[in-house]
Amino acid sequence: MTPAKSAGAELRVGGTVERFEVKRAWLVDPASGREGPGEIVVSDGILESVSWLEGRDAAGVDDLGVIVAPGFIDLHAHFREPGFEDAETVASGCAAAAHGGYTTVALMPNTSPALDEPGVLARIRDAARASGSPVEVLAFGAVSAKRAGETLSAMGELADAGVIGFSDDGAPVKAPRLMRSALVYAGMLGLPVIDHVEDPELTAGAEANEGYVASVLGLAGWPAAAEAAAASRALAVLADAVADEHGVRLHLTHLSTAAALDAVRRAKVAGLPVTADVTPHHLALADEWIAGARRWSWEALGPEDGTRDPWADGALVAGPYNTSLRVNPPLRTAADAAACLAALLDGTADAVVTDHAPHTTVDKEVEFGLASNGISGIETALGVLLAMVDAGRLPLARAIAALTSGPAGVLGKWPRVAATASARPRGLVEGVPADLVVFDRADSWRVTSSTLLSKGKNSPLLGRELPGRVLVTIACGRLAWQDL
Ligand SMILES: [Zn+2]
Repeated sequence: MTPAKSAGAELRVGGTVERFEVKRAWLVDPASGREGPGEIVVSDGILESVSWLEGRDAAGVDDLGVIVAPGFIDLHAHFREPGFEDAETVASGCAAAAHGGYTTVALMPNTSPALDEPGVLARIRDAARASGSPVEVLAFGAVSAKRAGETLSAMGELADAGVIGFSDDGAPVKAPRLMRSALVYAGMLGLPVIDHVEDPELTAGAEANEGYVASVLGLAGWPAAAEAAAASRALAVLADAVADEHGVRLHLTHLSTAAALDAVRRAKVAGLPVTADVTPHHLALADEWIAGARRWSWEALGPEDGTRDPWADGALVAGPYNTSLRVNPPLRTAADAAACLAALLDGTADAVVTDHAPHTTVDKEVEFGLASNGISGIETALGVLLAMVDAGRLPLARAIAALTSGPAGVLGKWPRVAATASARPRGLVEGVPADLVVFDRADSWRVTSSTLLSKGKNSPLLGRELPGRVLVTIACGRLAWQDL
């Protein structure tokens, strides 16, 4: 246990952090590739000093206690405003983000109305300002008008208003021809298209990952091929479009299958301008949770990366059909989860995103197949990744990189975004506004409907203890969260 001391004068959420010190902690700074014992001082909102301890000064400080890292960046979240404020608002979403260690979030445009014209972006920005939270709120505009998949949205106006890319998330970009036009036009604007890859014809009526668990539970199968086919198609269109417009950028989000990740791996080797991400739930949970298993995905791996049988193992400890496990794409097999981890380790996946998708209880207290898709996950992402670190599956520095320099690197590949303040230095950099999280690996917290600040209590981790309690989150020099 690291003896760390945090001393702060009056700290107030939203206010500039006048003085804050962390002594004898473990600093992780993926941007510079450095980690080790150290101390930080924040003064008047500025990260005044980052000192690395050596020799006797560093004695007794290890990476099992208090950790200081750059603020996390979530490239994929749903804050539901405008239109679904019962499920989440920009204010409640920002509070949840800060509790999870995030200082920057990028919101998806599947609001009501959809973010397909600048007026909706203005409403979201007003809500962010009114919330008083210092969490930076970025947003994607819709690819298509009303996200209907028919005609392009007001992409030029949206770019001028400051969206950081285009997506029809919640749904895939419907047609290949529309995708091609969107990629080229977005590329000309210096922005990417973010695609939720799913072939809707293959997933019509689907309820759970196609395979053994869905068969036994009598749930309609959701084939891995629906993701692989759509990913391959998007990558083929990308290869075609990039020949016309060299600024084209594609990002594939929440990939969940070995096959789709393999397609991205090959595309990257071929030099295509593609980036990708995976989620904590697809890394750590397998479809057997729907049957009532509650072991981590790596504990469900059999010999040679096969998937174990939860019934034969006596691994079922909870009731089946818990609707908080219904998510799009669905939880896959333990082997697919292992493929997501392999992709994170080899860089095929550039980042971990939460796909934070809060829902009201009403939308989840129905039959499994009728429940809304989504997991409220922005507060549990760190804990899930730390569980992987604790299990020896993921190096701590890689976990932190996936939440910081990874997503920052993705943002930096989008020329129009790279040219703005959103691409400011993301690391433990002296002399700039402090943007960091302090958490205690040695301390855990229980996920409950009252400890989650999100309005969405739809977490399959409710009742579970997660490692890594977040002590302080500072966003752009201002206090976003504290629980010292
Ligand atoms: Zn999606």
